[in-house]
Amino acid sequence: MKPRILESSYSELADLVASLGEPHYRADQILKWIWGGAARSFEDMTDLPQSLRRRLAESGRLFTLEPLEERVSSDGLTRKVLFQLEDGKSIESAYMVYEATQSGRDRRTVCLSTQAGCSIRCPFCATGQQGFERHLRTGEMLEQVLYFLWLARSGALRKDEDRATPGRPKAPPPPPGNGAPIPAARRALTNVVFMGMGEPLANYQAVKAAIIGLHSSRGLGLGARQMTVSTVGLVPQIQRLAREDIHVELAVSLHAATDRVRNLLVPVNRRYPLARLIPACRDYFEATGRRPTFEYALFNGVNDSPDQARQLAGLLAGFACHVNLIVGNPTPSRQFRPSVPRRVAAFQSELTETGVSNTLRQSRGADIEAGCGQLRSRSLRKSG
Ligand code: SAH
Repeated sequence: MKPRILESSYSELADLVASLGEPHYRADQILKWIWGGAARSFEDMTDLPQSLRRRLAESGRLFTLEPLEERVSSDGLTRKVLFQLEDGKSIESAYMVYEATQSGRDRRTVCLSTQAGCSIRCPFCATGQQGFERHLRTGEMLEQVLYFLWLARSGALRKDEDRATPGRPKAPPPPPGNGAPIPAARRALTNVVFMGMGEPLANYQAVKAAIIGLHSSRGLGLGARQMTVSTVGLVPQIQRLAREDIHVELAVSLHAATDRVRNLLVPVNRRYPLARLIPACRDYFEATGRRPTFEYALFNGVNDSPDQARQLAGLLAGFACHVNLIVGNPTPSRQFRPSVPRRVAAFQSELTETGVSNTLRQSRGADIEAGCGQLRSRSLRKSG
């Protein structure tokens, strides 16, 4: 198998270029094309000699994910892509624009998948229902990000935004040619969240390498705070992540304040119950200075009573953390229905009164099934 260029270190790439009889600055040119989001193939790298482009294509693989289907939400702010992997399996990823609050700039976030399928089997999550297929490789994670970068550069994403919400300020123009691509790319894509299909911390090494790649100044140069890993709560891996050099943001899918309810929603809670999970999250904060976020999806009559809000406040007492409430997205299971607005409001006000920092997050892209827990593989038959 030809090596994956996205998984090569800088020196490996420089060696490859040297073995093809070219000076090492060609490696920098290649990386600029890739991480500026301007090339989808070696052929696109027009400032490389034609013969080098051909020989690179013979000696390495660049992009292996094939986008098969794209859907844009009616507000134009979420785009979901179904990719086919080399072995025929499929994954989905999403790109979301969060409009600027008064203070800041728009956020442009890629939500990437870390596994095809998932082994955790949370009963309210579509990915969990399909079971586990395989881990994604580091290169396959980076490719998801790079695909959206390339779309941004081509201007396609801006057109979605401008068409769908005519009143809002215009999205920035696509970055100019190959001149200063990486800073421009960073504006086109400000955040990466490991929150798509799969459990990132169950694919630890590959996820860690993807974080390093995204953080690298020769890659996208994303800050640690611009990356969020979301986990069901694998305690040993949270402890391990706390000891890494790059202190990314941590999101933990809590969804319940008692073991009884959490065992039902997040089956891995039987192995890592709350009495172990919460201290691990506190330790993460101590070690990294990053305040964990707890995700709490509200399902009607399951975990959304005011009493459960008080239990949640008790569980998190004295912990400088933040709770992200989200109305559960509809899933095939009849047991888990989205909370009704009245219950959502009562839960949130109870939480706020007990002093827990929280926000009610609007689920994004539910109309195209790109919301949390709605991503899944599909059985695919390639046409043609
Ligand atoms: N495995 C990781 C990351 C993927 S899931 C994790 O569990 O954190 C991303 C988020 O979507 C998790 O918080 C998950 O619990 C949530 N989610 C899954 N199904 C959902 C649904 N039907 N409604 C709302 N959130 C859901």
